[in-house]
Amino acid sequence: MSVSKTINFPIERTTKSRLSETDFSNLEFGTVNSDHMFVVDYYKGEWKDAKIMPFQNISVSPACSALHYGQTVFEGMKAFRATNGDLLVFRPEKHLERLNNSNRRLCIPEIPKEYFFDAIDELVKLDQEWIPNKEGCSLYLRPFIFANDPFIGVKPSSAYKFMIFTCPVAGYYKGTVKVIIESEFVRASPGGIGAAKTGGNYAASLLPAKLAADKGYQQILWTDSKEHKYFEESGTMNLMFVINDTLITPSLDGSILPGITRDSILTIAKDWGVKIEERRISVDEVVEAHSKGTLQDAFGTGTAATITQISAIHHNGEDMVLPDVATRELSNKLNKTIVDIKHGVAEDKYNWVHRIK
Ligand SMILES: *Cc1c(COP(=O)(O)O)cnc(C)c1O
Repeated sequence: MSVSKTINFPIERTTKSRLSETDFSNLEFGTVNSDHMFVVDYYKGEWKDAKIMPFQNISVSPACSALHYGQTVFEGMKAFRATNGDLLVFRPEKHLERLNNSNRRLCIPEIPKEYFFDAIDELVKLDQEWIPNKEGCSLYLRPFIFANDPFIGVKPSSAYKFMIFTCPVAGYYKGTVKVIIESEFVRASPGGIGAAKTGGNYAASLLPAKLAADKGYQQILWTDSKEHKYFEESGTMNLMFVINDTLITPSLDGSILPGITRDSILTIAKDWGVKIEERRISVDEVVEAHSKGTLQDAFGTGTAATITQISAIHHNGEDMVLPDVATRELSNKLNKTIVDIKHGVAEDKYNWVHRIK
C-alpha cells in the first residue's frame, strides 16, 4: 500500500552520524537510537511545527503533566529491509488505528494519518543504514505521545508532543519462557485502561514481574481482576493455547490489549482452516487439558518476538511442562509465515506490508 504525501515538513539532517561508532554485533534492545527523530506539537487545538531533526534530548517543564499523571500513549512496530533492498513496515495503518483508539481513551487528540505515514517514511528512508545487515534484524519504531501542559492540575492537557524515534534491533533470540500464573496482582480490569497502549499498564506490571523473575520465571500469565480464574495476557504479549488442535485465545473484553500480531495470527490460522476459539479460557481448563495430555501448545504473541513459546506454566506449586517446541507445528509454522511476510519473502496476500518508495 502507499499513501500520498500531503504534508511537507522540514528535515534537519545530522552533521555527525553515530552510525560508524555503533557496534551492531552487540545490540541490546532499545539501547541504541538511530540518527534522527520526528516531532510534532499540539497546541491551540492543532498539530503543528512538524519536523525531523537529529536525535537529541528534549526539555519539558518539571510540571509537565505526563510526568505526574501518565497521560501518555505509545506504539511499537518494525521496519525491515527486504533482500531486494526495499524498505518494509508491517501493518502501520493498524498501528495508527490502535494509537488513535488509545488516544481516545486517554483524552489525547488523534494523530492525523498524514503525519504518521510521512514521518515513518521519511525516518526509515533517512536512517535505513541503521537497519542491521543480518537476518532477522530490523529498525524498531517507537511512536509516542505525551501531555505537555506545564500544569499539575488533573485534567486533560491542552498541549501534547508526538514523537517517533527508531532503534536498530537484533534478531530476537527464539528461546522459550517459563511463566507463572498471577493470582494476586492485576495488570488491568474491565473499564480500565488495559486495552490502551499506555504507560500506566506497564507501571502496574513492574512489581509482579520482578517478583516472578525473583522466583525464576520470565513472564507472568495475567488472570482476570475479579476472580483470577480466566487468562488474559502473557507479560506484555497476547496469549494463545492449542488444545486438541483448537487455537484458543482470550476474547478482547476491554482489559486486553488488541495485539496486531494476535490479529495477524488469527487471520492466517483462519485461512488455513484451523479451528479457532476467541473466548474466556480458564486456568482450570488449561490445567485439565495438561493432565489429559491435550494441551499441545501455549505461546505469547507480540511485535518484538512474533511468537514466544512457553515451556512451562507454574501453577499451585508445580511446573506444568509443555511439549517440546519441535512438536508444535502450528506455532512454528505461524511464526515462520509471519516473519516471512514481514521480510517480504512470503506473498503479502493480506496487503499488510507498507513499502516505502
Ligand atoms: C503491545 C502489546 C501487545 C502486543 O501487541 P502487538 O501489536 O502484537 O505488538 C500485547 N500486550 C500488551 C500489553 C502490549 O502492550
